[in-house]
Amino acid sequence: MKHSQPHWLSLDKKGLQAWQMLKLRRYLAESVLPFSAHYRALFGERGLRPGLLTDYTCLERIPFSAKADLLKGARDFVLTPDERVLKRRPSTILAALMRGREAVKEAFEREFRPVMMTSTTGRSAEPAPFIYTARDIRTLAEAGARVMRICGATREMRMLNMFPFAPHLAFWQTHYAGMEFGVFMVSSGGGKGLGTEGNLRLMRKIEPEVLIGMPTFVYHVLRSAADDGARCPKLRKIVLGGEKAPPGMRRRLRALAREMGAGEVDVLPTYGFTEAKMAWAQCPCENPPEGSGYHLNPDFGIIEVVDPATGAQLPEGEPGEVVWTPLEARGSVVLRYRTGDIVSGGIVYGKCPHCGRNMPRLRGEISRTAEIREMRLEKLKGTLVDFNRLEHVLDDCEEVDTWQLEIRKTHDDPLELDELILHVRKANGLSDEAVRNMLTERFVAETEMNPNSILFHSDAELRRLQGVGAMLKEQRVVDHRPKSIEAKPQMADV
Ligand SMILES: [Zn+2]
Repeated sequence: MKHSQPHWLSLDKKGLQAWQMLKLRRYLAESVLPFSAHYRALFGERGLRPGLLTDYTCLERIPFSAKADLLKGARDFVLTPDERVLKRRPSTILAALMRGREAVKEAFEREFRPVMMTSTTGRSAEPAPFIYTARDIRTLAEAGARVMRICGATREMRMLNMFPFAPHLAFWQTHYAGMEFGVFMVSSGGGKGLGTEGNLRLMRKIEPEVLIGMPTFVYHVLRSAADDGARCPKLRKIVLGGEKAPPGMRRRLRALAREMGAGEVDVLPTYGFTEAKMAWAQCPCENPPEGSGYHLNPDFGIIEVVDPATGAQLPEGEPGEVVWTPLEARGSVVLRYRTGDIVSGGIVYGKCPHCGRNMPRLRGEISRTAEIREMRLEKLKGTLVDFNRLEHVLDDCEEVDTWQLEIRKTHDDPLELDELILHVRKANGLSDEAVRNMLTERFVAETEMNPNSILFHSDAELRRLQGVGAMLKEQRVVDHRPKSIEAKPQMADV
């Protein structure tokens, strides 16, 4: 695998897709079908052969896979090499003659032996394990270094990685990105590792140019630092991942950094998921609400955008569901994996108008349907409440610093009515009454319903409610209704 000066950067859409299909046919024939019992059986049943997948539309012949398949048997998706098949290959025989048997054996070990695992972070669903080999780690590191370059980082920058230390993609992608890019990076492990205090100490000590982490936690640490009177004049970039970073949150982070003497800071969201074993970044641009789109790696995988209802491929630029097929992965391999993530601006090809790189990009906002907390508050109004929307409303309120939405039953009685409680820390000197009226008005305008009560808290109280430092993810929406009545809201994958 040669990563420097990739030739695909100069291909147009047609050329790029043709090259990806060529790569896919080889990948299926040499790496997936011989060593994946699942896909060998599936292709066999359908009479499907790699050679039949001639152009991009032929992808539709490969059945989708989804989280449910992984939960049924994650092991079935791990490539398990058959030594007899490998030994018979002319390329193996030739390599053994040239470099010796031991070297060939070692190469196969690095290609196929599982060495790491990450998993999804769903709370309601069982976490699905996903296996990496040494070769996958190399791809992860290269994909990470590309994230650095696309974000406009330089080697001289000092970085603080505040992702929670866990077997999750976000932490490890960032760690390997730092190693591969060759930059000074300290990983704090997030709130659970060193607590807020420890992260603040590191910020003072390192004076990082780049902060990397989950939006809610990065905001919380910066806010605490600002409240302590700390300044961060060196801060240049905030790179976000692990959960969605809505425009309101990005705007707040920019404002907060300015308030701390940082000048103009790039707040750059990334998008990735466990099954891709990588994340993609946006390049810095002038019109932040729209963003520059997630710059994809067409050599590592194919991303299609499909109609979530029919599963049909959609034309360039149309909103739809993100579907992933790897081209380099070993270890766990899923083909045409349905993410359940909807991208509002679809996929676009050609030169990025901001950085000039010729890469396909996913444009607009990504909403994770696994995370759309449309819960029926039947006994309240008989109406569906879209929590994604409420989150946007709250993030966009200048008057609200941090918040949490809580759903519970009146008197904790399962037969009683649902109640919606909004917990708030105010951002400025406004009176409780003024903020309460403003929030009620906006809630009614957006959702035609009122929160049953709006409670104001100190910073410390709200952090405790959100579980900052105690949970892997801060809880912005909590469902405290008895479990048997309604399904718990799900968290997005990291
Ligand atoms: Zn760009």
